[in-house]
Amino acid sequence: MTASVLDDAEVTRALVIAAHPDDVDFGAAGTVAGWTDAGVDVVYCVVTDGAAGGDDPAVSRADLVVIRQAEQRAAAKCVGVSDVRFLGYPDGQLERSLELRRDLTRVIRQVRPERVVCQSPERIYERIQVSHPDHRAAADAALDAVYPDSRNPFAFPELAADEALPAWRVREVWIFGSPQPSHFVDITDTFSRKVAALRAHLSQTGHMDNLEDMLRGWLSRSAAMGGLPEGRLAEAFQVIATA
Ligand SMILES: [Zn+2]
Repeated sequence: MTASVLDDAEVTRALVIAAHPDDVDFGAAGTVAGWTDAGVDVVYCVVTDGAAGGDDPAVSRADLVVIRQAEQRAAAKCVGVSDVRFLGYPDGQLERSLELRRDLTRVIRQVRPERVVCQSPERIYERIQVSHPDHRAAADAALDAVYPDSRNPFAFPELAADEALPAWRVREVWIFGSPQPSHFVDITDTFSRKVAALRAHLSQTGHMDNLEDMLRGWLSRSAAMGGLPEGRLAEAFQVIATA
């Protein structure tokens, strides 16, 4: 445990912000399952519509958006999450715009989470797939929305004036896919639900025969990095105090 991490008992609401359908399930679903079991309300916010994925030309892009949203809702259900929000930005074209910062600030003020979970805005040269441009843009905007936008009453004043959404201060951020993980959550007991969540993304993981082995490899390495006993599985986060 890192000293700066809030005790889960201090957290009533957590908000996960991710670029694509399935990102949260690869990065954090085992941890989320533990939180919802403990009574934490968890909300997912998926920034893009997922329409640039897949390689089946017979599936229209519009159909794919509907499929990906249904899959993400089903995956969320596997780990106790029923509130899934989609911002609908075009997949593959995400930029860290003021518009995106405002939209994420709106969701933060609506949900009022103590804890926000997001991806890393940094490019990781060792694992280039983790650093998809949409991931970096979503994460950068999410961190800007945590600090300073959502807590600053003068940022996007229309949110308070027109939507009755006053400023809200997020206490900490957990980054998954970080090059500098500092906190390791033992998810051995929720691993099967993480796998089920990933399997719910049929259009993305249906062809992955080795999904479970691949996950065990990654999660075992994270557990070892976190000093957990042999045979345990862990998800890794960089936790930042933002109070
Ligand atoms: Zn992604």
